[in-house]
Amino acid sequence: MSTRRIPIARQSISQADIDSVVETLRSDWLTTGPKVDQFEKSFCEFTGAKYAVAVMNGTAALHCAYHAIDLKPGDEVIVPAITFAATANAVLYNGAKPVFADVDASTLLINPDSVQALLSPRTKAITAVDYAGQPCDYGRLQSVAQLKGITLIADACHALGGSYNKAPVGTLAKLSTFSFHPVKPITTGEGGMITTDDQALASKMKIFRNHGITTDHRQREVNGTWEYDMVTLGYNLRLPDILCALGIEQLKRTRDLMAKRVLLAKRYHECLAGSSTVTPLGVNQNADHAYHLLIVKLAHHIDRQDVFGKLRALGIGAGVHYKPVYLHSYYQSLGYKQGQCPVAEENYSRIMSLPIFPDLPIGEVDRICDQLLEICRSY
Ligand SMILES: *Cc1c(COP(=O)(O)O)cnc(C)c1O
Repeated sequence: MSTRRIPIARQSISQADIDSVVETLRSDWLTTGPKVDQFEKSFCEFTGAKYAVAVMNGTAALHCAYHAIDLKPGDEVIVPAITFAATANAVLYNGAKPVFADVDASTLLINPDSVQALLSPRTKAITAVDYAGQPCDYGRLQSVAQLKGITLIADACHALGGSYNKAPVGTLAKLSTFSFHPVKPITTGEGGMITTDDQALASKMKIFRNHGITTDHRQREVNGTWEYDMVTLGYNLRLPDILCALGIEQLKRTRDLMAKRVLLAKRYHECLAGSSTVTPLGVNQNADHAYHLLIVKLAHHIDRQDVFGKLRALGIGAGVHYKPVYLHSYYQSLGYKQGQCPVAEENYSRIMSLPIFPDLPIGEVDRICDQLLEICRSY
């Protein structure tokens, strides 16, 4: 038996990644330079979106997207109960109210029926989350959004490289947001991106990420002027050239990195097939799943905390993604009540995330599943 610790997630860094960062460190521009444009252009080519705006992380990407649609106090945004807190937090940054929709019991993706039931005159947007890397039901979500004249946003932080009915993630909503944290499909250490086909929204986000100023340092140098105007209250959300250089190289490997994840997921599904105690989440026929996370549901009689501890003792990383956002104490302090999304809450008590990352040797999946199934037999 191997004694190597297996983390739940890990970045994959190549020599080309390292060389590209070092080369940028020796260049004239560490930030707001040519690598930003190049990363954005490559991202457009990869996703098929018309515009891409690079920012410092996935949370900043959501903040920009909500700013772009003029989200303000009194507005509501429907978000899934099961997501990383940032999806809802960025709604609060704009003074608006997150409204939590329940999820589908099989995939744990936002349930369009639940969205429909929560629509109100104050609903400004729906933010769908491609949870675990599986694109949501964009067909139905688009029709709900169009019928109501509200904006559909895709929090695609898990799903770069995926697709829905063959249409790539990044083109499935009015605005799509990405994260390049080390656990995500590609990494820049910290980083984020928003894609859109709408030029006006892209331009608003480029101004917002740069203090609300209409030109950046390099544009002023090119134009031979010192003058600039601040037209709105923005922030400094810029992604440095050093990190864009890493992103450009990582992006070239997205297909390869995702293919490795898909193979690992396939092996998990094979190893767990027929188990009555451990069941992987459902996968929709028309979705190409990017497998950011490999999530299983444990049977009701299994003590998840105990399983977590036993896996940990064996050197196998595990986790839970995610606690329904409104159950966090901050959201409870805002008045959100337990019980509002019963499917999310019931599933939250049983889900567990297992190790999946491109450099995980496929043989380790067999070992992880063997040990997990053996632990589960003991209850
Ligand atoms: C990671 C993540 C974010 C936030 O991204 P950061 O880069 O960590 O700020 C937002 N939404 C989801 C669904 C995420 O997984």
